[in-house]
Amino acid sequence: MHGIAVSPGVCRGKLLILTDNRVDCIPRRAISEDEIPQQMTRLEQAVTETRRQLLAVQDKVNAGMGAKDASIFDAHLLVLEDPTLLDEVSRYVEKEKVNIEYAFAQVAEKYAKTLEAIDDEYLRERASDMRDVTERLLQNLLGTFQELDLKHLKEPYIIVAYDLAPSRTAMLDKKNVLGFATDVGGKTSHTAIMARSLRIPAVVGLGKASGELQNGQYALLDGYHGQVIINPTDQTLFEYGQLARIQLSLEEKLRDTIDKPAVTLDGVRLTLSANIEQAEDTVAVKESGAEGVGLFRTEYLFLNSTTLPTEEQQYEAYRRAAAALKPAPLIVRTLDLGGDKFMSHLNVPAEMNPFLGWRAIRFCLEEKEIFRAQLRAILRASAEGNIKIMYPMISCLDELIQANSLLDTYREELRKEGVPFDEKMDVGAMIEIPSAVLMADALAKRVQFFSIGTNDLIQYTLAVDRLNEKIAHLYEPTNPSILRLIKMTTNAAHAAGIWVGVCGEMAGDPLMIPLLLGLGVDELSVAPQAVPQIKYLIRRVKMSEAKEIAEAALTSESSTEILDRSQKLVRSVAPSLFEQ
Ligand code: PEP
Ligand code: MG
Repeated sequence: MHGIAVSPGVCRGKLLILTDNRVDCIPRRAISEDEIPQQMTRLEQAVTETRRQLLAVQDKVNAGMGAKDASIFDAHLLVLEDPTLLDEVSRYVEKEKVNIEYAFAQVAEKYAKTLEAIDDEYLRERASDMRDVTERLLQNLLGTFQELDLKHLKEPYIIVAYDLAPSRTAMLDKKNVLGFATDVGGKTSHTAIMARSLRIPAVVGLGKASGELQNGQYALLDGYHGQVIINPTDQTLFEYGQLARIQLSLEEKLRDTIDKPAVTLDGVRLTLSANIEQAEDTVAVKESGAEGVGLFRTEYLFLNSTTLPTEEQQYEAYRRAAAALKPAPLIVRTLDLGGDKFMSHLNVPAEMNPFLGWRAIRFCLEEKEIFRAQLRAILRASAEGNIKIMYPMISCLDELIQANSLLDTYREELRKEGVPFDEKMDVGAMIEIPSAVLMADALAKRVQFFSIGTNDLIQYTLAVDRLNEKIAHLYEPTNPSILRLIKMTTNAAHAAGIWVGVCGEMAGDPLMIPLLLGLGVDELSVAPQAVPQIKYLIRRVKMSEAKEIAEAALTSESSTEILDRSQKLVRSVAPSLFEQ
C-alpha cells in the first residue's frame, strides 16, 4: 500500500488495527452484579452528552444551511431516545453482565442490520442514522476506556487507524508502538509531528488501510518512501537490511556535528533549536545537539490527561524542562487546543471548520481561568531557567495586546504574592496566519521575537487543509506566496530589531534550508531527530548561495522551479542525506 511518508525509519511486525468505534472492535468485559447500576448511569450520561452535541451541531447546520438540512438530526435524536433500544440495552447488560459499551454496540448493530436488510430505501437510510448515532454515543462512552487499553499493549505493534487524533496518540503505550499507518492525514498533521518526535516510522494517507488490513497480519512499514508491505518476501527484507546499514552509517556521520555550532561555510551563525511535546523530551533535545527548545507544544500536557492540569502540575512540567536545558532557552507556547487537538472532556462544541474556529489564543482569551493557570505556571517556572513564552495563532493586533495585558496582570499578582519570576522574560508571537504577516510591523513593536508556524501559514495562505490527503499535493511550502510571506515577516522583524525563527515542519526539511536561510530567518526549530541532519547541511552551505536562491525564488512564478533549484544545491553539498 502506498501513502505519504511522514516519519522516517523502517519497522516490521504485527498490525494492530484501531477501528475507532467500529462495533466489531469494542472490547467485551465481564462485570459483576454490583456494577450494573453504575454502567446504566454511564449510559444515561453518554445519552445526555450525545443529545447535547447533536443539538449543537443541528443549531450550527440550521444557521449555516437552513432547517431542511438540519432536520436530518431529528432522525438522529429520535434514534438516540428510542425507548425500545435503550430498554433492550439495559436488558442485555443485566442478562449478559457485560460492560455497557459492548452491550450498546451489540444491540445497536443488530437494529442497524435489521433495517439495512429491508428492501426500502427510507429504512435503509435509517440504518446509517443508527450507525452515526451509535458511533457518537460510543465515542462519548469510551472516552477514557479505550485509551486505557491503548496504554497497555501486550506486545509491539504497527498501529493502523483511519486517523490518530492527537488525544489518542498521546495515550498510546509508546514502547510497544513500532510504527503508525493511517488512512488519512498529511505531512503536518499532528499524528505525523508526534510520530517524528517519538521517532516512530509513519505513513499516512494510505486510503483504505484500516478497512482492508487485518489484525495480526505481518507487515513492513517504510517511513522513508511511504509504503506498507504485507507479508514481505525474503528478498524485500534483505533489501531493507541494506537500507538500514546505509542509514546507520549516515547517522554516524551526522553524530560528528553534535557539539559543533550551526554555522554556514561562509561563517553565518544560526540558532538551531528543537521542538518538544513534553518535559521528558529535553533528553532527546540535548542528545541531538540542539541549542535549546524553540517550541514546547504544551497541548500534550492537556491531552495526556482526563482532567485539566493544575497550575502546580504545569509549573512542575515547565520548571523541569527549563532546569534540564538551562542556560539554553525553552520557548513555551501557550495552549493551542482546537483544530485537530481536542480534549474530549472539555465540552468544546463540535465545529464545522475547527481549523478556522475556536482555537489556540482565541480559546485562551475567553477561557481566562485556564489561561491564567498556564501563564502563572510559565512565569513561575521562568525563575528556574531561561524561559520565553509565545502565543499561537495571533490573527490580529488586539489578540496580542489582550494576551500581553493578561500576562502583565499575572506578573503583578505574583509580585504581590512575593513569588519570583523572570522580570525580563521574552515574549514572542507565532506568525502562522497571513493577517499576522501583513500586520507584522505592528506586532513586532510588542514582542521580542517571532516564530513562523509554517504548518498553519501554508494551510491558511493556500486554503489547503493540512490534514486532507486528497489535496496534499497542493500543500506546497515552496509556493512563491509562502516565501514572500516569510520574507515580509523577516523584513518587519529585523526593521524592529527582533529575531525570527521558523518552528513549522518546513524547518526540518533539508530541501527548504537554503530558502529559509536566504530569506533571513535567524533560528530554526525542528524535531530533535532532525537536528543532526539540518546542522550537517547548514555547515555545508554558503549564505551567499542561499541568498541567491531565495532572491530568485521571490521573483519566481513556479513552486517546482524554486524547489528544483534548492534541491540541486542541497543534493550537491550534502549527497549523503539522500542515499536511502
Ligand atoms: C505551525 O503551525 O507551524 C506550528 C508550529 O504549530 P502547530 O503545528 O502545533 O500548529
Ligand atoms: Mg500552528
